[in-house]
Order: sequence, then C-alpha cells, then structure tokens
Amino acid sequence: MKALRKVASRPNGLELAEIPIPACGPRDVLVKVRAASLCGTDAHIYNWDGSVRDKILAATDRFARPLTIGHEFCGEVVEIGREVRGAGEGARELLRPGDFVSAESHIVCGQCYQCRRGEYHVCTRETIIGVQRDGGFAEYIALPAACAWINDPAVVPVEVACIEEPFGNAVHATTEYSPAGRCVVVFGAGPIGLFSVIVAAAEGAERIIAVDASQFRLDLAAKVGAHTTIHTAPPPRDDQAARSRERERLNGLIRDAAAPLEPDLVMEMSGAADAIDAGLRAVRRGGKMILFGLPKRQEVTLERYSEDVIFGGVTLKGIIGRKIYGTWEKTRALTARPAVRDKIRTVITHTIPLSRYEEAFAKMIGRDSGKVVMTIAQD
Ligand SMILES: [Zn+2]
Ligand SMILES: [Zn+2]
Repeated sequence: MKALRKVASRPNGLELAEIPIPACGPRDVLVKVRAASLCGTDAHIYNWDGSVRDKILAATDRFARPLTIGHEFCGEVVEIGREVRGAGEGARELLRPGDFVSAESHIVCGQCYQCRRGEYHVCTRETIIGVQRDGGFAEYIALPAACAWINDPAVVPVEVACIEEPFGNAVHATTEYSPAGRCVVVFGAGPIGLFSVIVAAAEGAERIIAVDASQFRLDLAAKVGAHTTIHTAPPPRDDQAARSRERERLNGLIRDAAAPLEPDLVMEMSGAADAIDAGLRAVRRGGKMILFGLPKRQEVTLERYSEDVIFGGVTLKGIIGRKIYGTWEKTRALTARPAVRDKIRTVITHTIPLSRYEEAFAKMIGRDSGKVVMTIAQD
C-alpha cells in the first residue's frame, strides 16, 4: 500500500512509500482509509519543530523505523481483531466489516490515575496516532477498536467524517461552558477557530465575534456564523507600547460589537501570545476564557495578570483533545444537522489527492486556506 512517511530527521523528510498493509492485532480494526485531513501538528512534523521532534525520535528509535503520519481520517472497516467487542462507550456499539468510521487519535492507557476516573482525555500515558505510531496518511491503518467511532454513511459524508477529530477539539472547547445566549469571542480563525464559530452558532450563542490577522480567514468566519469580524495586525514583539495600544484597540472594537452584551466567553484558538493578552483584556469581569492555541515557549507574558485574571474573577480553562466519548457523542449530534455539515464544507477549502501531498502541505502552511483534505485513491 501507499503510505506517507517521515523518514528522516530534517524539515520535510517525507516520502510516499510502498509498504505492506499493516496486520490487524487482536484488539484492532483494519481500516481502508478514504480521506484524511492535515493538521497544525502535521505542519510541525513537516517543519520538524521542537514540539514534535523528541516524541517522534523516541517513537521511531531515531528513524530506525520510519513513521506513517496523519491522525485525522476516516474509512471503512475491512477486518476486526478477534478480541474486539465493539466501539464507543463501554464497547456497546457493534462493529461490523464495512462500517464507516472516524478515529480518536489519542490511544489511552486505561490504567493511570486519570483513566481510572474516566478522564481519558488527560491520560498521562497516551500515545498519539500519526505521531507515536503509524497514522492515516496511507491506504490502510490498523488502530485499536477503542479509537474507532462509527458514522452513519447516509448522514455524514466522507469529507465531514475525516475532520471529526479536529472538529471534536472545537466541540470540546466550545461546549465546556455553554455558549447559549452568550457573547463568544474567538481569537484565531484557523480551522479549529472556524469550527468553534460553527459550534457556538449551533449551540445558540447570541453574538459571535472573530479576530484574526488573515482577512481570508475572517471572510470564512463570517460565512460560518461570526456576526462581527475584527482584523488585527500584531505589532513587533519588542514594541511594548504598540502592543498595548493594539490590545486596547481590539478591546474597544470587541466591546462595541458585543453591546448590549459583554464578552462572556473568550476562546483563544490562535496560540499568539498577544491574543492571550488581548483576550484577557476583553473578557468581561466574571467571564470565562478557553485556552487551546499553543504559543511558542517564553512568549507568554500575561502583562495584566492581577487586573485581568484575579480582580476580573475570570475562569481560565485549558482544553486538550476530546472527551472520550462525550465529545464524540456531541459531534455525532452536531454533524447530524445539515446546516452544520454545510458550514464544515465551507471550512474545507482544498481537497487534494494523497499523491500530491506536497501541494496539500504547501496550501496548509500558507495561511490562505481553511482545512485541507487529502483523498486517498484506491483500487
Ligand atoms: Zn490534529
Ligand atoms: Zn491513562
């Protein structure tokens, strides 16, 4: 089969290789992949950033074994391991050959302190598909049946099923505190920020404001439900005065757009250090702030920590992954709604075959894109 592999410790270092179809272990399902989407993590793997390097070097024994990448995908079950009882919560959903599945990318241990309390999304011994074991940018993947999530193919089309994993990040982040009747401000209109706009709208947010440095992405945000979009041009990091002016300017625009409400729920989905400060400035007293974007190390200053967080009485909540399986249940309910599926399709700006993966990576790394999906041609 064809598989896109990271084969060397350097930027790019990818190769579309011909390798054997993986064996289906006793607790696995073998899935014939139909489509997969590219994620920021894949860009980090491509660019060979420090955030993923050590994990991959350890998992591949410094590339003694290459790694098939890709952790957002969907496909058809073609083989089921002999010990598999089912999929989903308590394995209560029967798995059959031919089932159309998406995948939870985090394989959890089931035994650590968190797992024993049902908090699988913060398992301390998780392994990640496409980072620490072979992933889904391939014609086939074997994965634990516990990671398979069954879709109704009559409801969920292939391109929507393949983005359920990242969409689930947005579902987890946006529904941690109910956005219904609230003013929601989303910093960062990349794919997960755009998905958050979709979820906030679907969950009945009264007012949705999106902030980004890319006009292309703000236009997408408006298409999927943002009532107001605000363009920001982050000043250079060493210009403290300009940075605090920009923060105050954004705060004024956000407050005007929110009125008569106030920014109840701020979602930091960009990972820009200035967006964290701007978000803390904007969130109303007693409001909530979701932290999902990953800033570069040492960039976060929290300049107004005492004023904005402590005196503001603000709740800060970090979000990682998807609740297993609560987020997946919510995702199923949301993707059952035609309006949600249409908006998800709007966020998918490029669909490119796996054979042209270089082009897919270039589109994703360039900022004039939403989600980039790769189709996997077979037979
Ligand atoms: Zn991802
Ligand atoms: Zn665990």
